[in-house]
Amino acid sequence: MTTDTPALLQNYLAGRWQAGSGPGTLLRDPVLGTGLARVSSGGLDLAEGFAFAREQGGRALRALSYRERAAMLAAAVKVLQANRDAYFEIATANSGTTNRDSGADIDGGIFTLGYYARQGETLGDARFLLDGDASRLGKDPAFQSQHIMVPTHGVALFINAFNFPSWGLWEKAGPALLSGVPVIVKPATATAWLTQRMVQDVVDAGVLPAGALSVVCGSSNGLLDALEPFDLVSFTGSAETAALIRSHPAVSAQSVRVNVEADSLNAALLAPGTRPDSEVFKLLVGEVVREMSTKSGQRCTAIRRVLVPAELYDAAAEAISAKLATLSVGNPRNKDVRMGSLVSREQLDTVQAGLARLRAETDLLHDGAGHALVDADPAVAACVGPTLLGTRRPQDARLVHEVEVFGPVATLLPYASLDEALATIRRGQGSLVTSVYSDDATFIADAALELASSHGRVHAISPDIAALNTGHGNVMPMSLHGGPGRAGGGEELGGLRALGFYHRRSALQASAAALERLAAGGHRIAG
Ligand code: NAP
Repeated sequence: MTTDTPALLQNYLAGRWQAGSGPGTLLRDPVLGTGLARVSSGGLDLAEGFAFAREQGGRALRALSYRERAAMLAAAVKVLQANRDAYFEIATANSGTTNRDSGADIDGGIFTLGYYARQGETLGDARFLLDGDASRLGKDPAFQSQHIMVPTHGVALFINAFNFPSWGLWEKAGPALLSGVPVIVKPATATAWLTQRMVQDVVDAGVLPAGALSVVCGSSNGLLDALEPFDLVSFTGSAETAALIRSHPAVSAQSVRVNVEADSLNAALLAPGTRPDSEVFKLLVGEVVREMSTKSGQRCTAIRRVLVPAELYDAAAEAISAKLATLSVGNPRNKDVRMGSLVSREQLDTVQAGLARLRAETDLLHDGAGHALVDADPAVAACVGPTLLGTRRPQDARLVHEVEVFGPVATLLPYASLDEALATIRRGQGSLVTSVYSDDATFIADAALELASSHGRVHAISPDIAALNTGHGNVMPMSLHGGPGRAGGGEELGGLRALGFYHRRSALQASAAALERLAAGGHRIAG
């Protein structure tokens, strides 16, 4: 897998494979420290690449119906499935993940693309969408207004985070390509290899029209300068980078539509009155441990704050810590290892620095430093054990509601009343998801209504659906992903709702006869 002189990964732009200039940036194995590949976007003619995607890719995609584009996605799914083993090898080497964690990214991405292939079939032979029914503009029904949604004539630029090189691409590309909009993806540099390889496989298989899918690996320099008014940016990453993108002149001056999925201080809430020997208590404990350990806590949706009734603080601390103590951490190639590596030594430093900040206002309930690494050299590997923090005075804490430590770290917070718990959760300033643990359907419904305005998703777990639930942190394509405020204010997925970002809405005011004519070619969705 590794070589002494790692190869420079090719970019695919303007319908051809192109090498960037210079030595590029080295991608490393975060466990072994070895070099794997290099990436460079230096010297690429971005204006040419964007124009090619916009003009050739966009035109070819828009000439197809939703059903035809859905078939194209289904063909891409087959290509990806055929190469799945290679993707797992790349993920182990470049992301340091166990096979289970790699599967969440690789199989999760393929599943989401397949979901949009199936959804697209339901839109039939239409090439645009009718948004609701026509409305009269006056008393006389002869003159009416009909909203329509047509694919934008721009390109969709995806700037993605390092933690989901597969899913991050396909959860966006599914809706974009189904909508008829060409895609240029810029993966995060640290883990760009998997994205690049998947694009290469799909492009080489010839299942998409030329210009429909491009990849630029390496620096983001110049990418935003290439944007034009009908283009779109879908960004996933930190709030700091999101702010830079939003204020870029090409975005602000041309009203380029931007979707942001940023970081989030997600919470888990154990219902008041829960008993420590109950099934509900066990469900919370199990989920917190799963969330802390899956992908070593490098998920934007991971539980960061755990709210429990004050009288259960000690019991929860003990139960979560006891489970964390059993987690083996280290080289994901060792079959006994449950939790692999962080994505890089840089991330390890960032996690340690974040932990040090949170430690200033919390107690250490379970120390990740106590985990001996399995088959990994602590001087080289970016592995870190899970750490549970806690404070008995959450109202005095500030950083636990502000600092996202993107690793296996969570903080336990006791609450005295439900109102206090809800107010504490809202101190996250808008999150992707909160989960609620209760066996009382009325409590769940009431809490969900309270939490909905500050969360993109509320995930409620009760014993009756314990074996069926999809997990706090797992993003399912049928449900909305995104959150207000701190979480970026974006919306992704949610079934066919995702297509809205890639379409432009326009109102046609015309005679009833003309609107009837128009309606015959579109697929009506609920208004
Ligand atoms: P990041 O540093 O913000 O980087 C994200 C992407 O932006 C990378 O592709 C990066 O490229 C690129 N980038 C950096 N500077 C840029 C600039 N000036 N202009 C344009 N692009 C630029 O975030 P990260 O460290 O990769 O990801 C971790 C963060 O993402 C966490 O905070 C996590 O919560 C968040 N996240 C959110 C979601 C969600 O769905 N809400 C999902 C996953 C992760 P380089 O890699 O080349 O620097």
